[in-house]
Amino acid sequence: MKVALVGIGKIARDQHVPALAASGDWELAATVSRAGTVEGVEAYTDFAAMLAARPDIPMVSLCLPPMPRFAYAEAALKAGRHVMLEKPPGATLAEVHALEALAAAQGLTLYATWHSRMAEAVAAAKAWLSDRVVRRAHITWREDVRKWHPGQDWVFEPGGMGVFDPGINALSILTEILPAPVHVTAATLEFPENRDTPIAAQITFSGGVSADFDWRQEGPQTWDIEVETDKGPMALRMGGNRLEIGGVEAGGVNSIMGEYPALYAQMAALVRAGRSDVDLSPMVHVADALTLGKRVVTAPFHF
Ligand code: NAP
Repeated sequence: MKVALVGIGKIARDQHVPALAASGDWELAATVSRAGTVEGVEAYTDFAAMLAARPDIPMVSLCLPPMPRFAYAEAALKAGRHVMLEKPPGATLAEVHALEALAAAQGLTLYATWHSRMAEAVAAAKAWLSDRVVRRAHITWREDVRKWHPGQDWVFEPGGMGVFDPGINALSILTEILPAPVHVTAATLEFPENRDTPIAAQITFSGGVSADFDWRQEGPQTWDIEVETDKGPMALRMGGNRLEIGGVEAGGVNSIMGEYPALYAQMAALVRAGRSDVDLSPMVHVADALTLGKRVVTAPFHF
């Protein structure tokens, strides 16, 4: 099946293009981007022009930042194309609900992807937790914004979500693996004095769950979820790619490169089955943390 990739920037080049090149399901047939292109692939700068010129492309994969994404997704669905959304699936919950309803009305697939849920050890962690009682869980998600979002001012603009842009990856794993749902009860949000979104957040959930998100970590990066249960501890490290049970390594890989191939395989399965997959539970936690969060002003941030 042919796919058009929209928004040729960091994640398109790092993950989508290699995943599509290796896919047995998909052929990258066109790109749409104002500046970015992919060698050997027909390039458009205007989305409407691509939709009009290429009725043979049934699926559009949107790698734009969340703020502009709704208009593209809506246009694609109205033009009869299946749509795959990067995470977070939109700038607001309501706009993704609207897309879900539109996809259903059009009989098309909408897939709100969560790449971290495809990390190597997530399914094993979920299975291990399924018959255990969670006493406590703590997320530590500390990374360097300059490394992962070099010069991307949109992450600090309204709708960019700040540190919740990576933090939502942790929340996508949490909502997948916990045997019972939790909800945010309190949060502290650290806003650089010159920016509109938080650079760090500490969140408390019901059920003994807490999270520490920070975008100022230089050197080694930390993407850990540590869980204490009635039958001992479990930890997911490396963003869900490595599993530790009782403090002992229990499998996984030291790479994130399996996540996007798994997303594209899942999209192919959804299209073939005529289904959509739109789980907004990670984004509900972000919205609630932003609703309940106490605002603390911190040092200005410059790339
Ligand atoms: P990016 O490089 O800043 O943006 C991707 C491309 O989107 C840009 O190169 C730009 O291409 C286009 N674009 C940007 N703003 C636009 C606008 N207002 N209107 C239309 N097109 C616009 O961002 P990214 O890091 O790839 O992130 C994109 C999405 O992927 C985000 O939702 C992010 O959370 C997710 N993601 C990122 C990473 C990461 O490591 N960075 C990892 C996983 C997921 P043109 O200028 O050529 O049009």
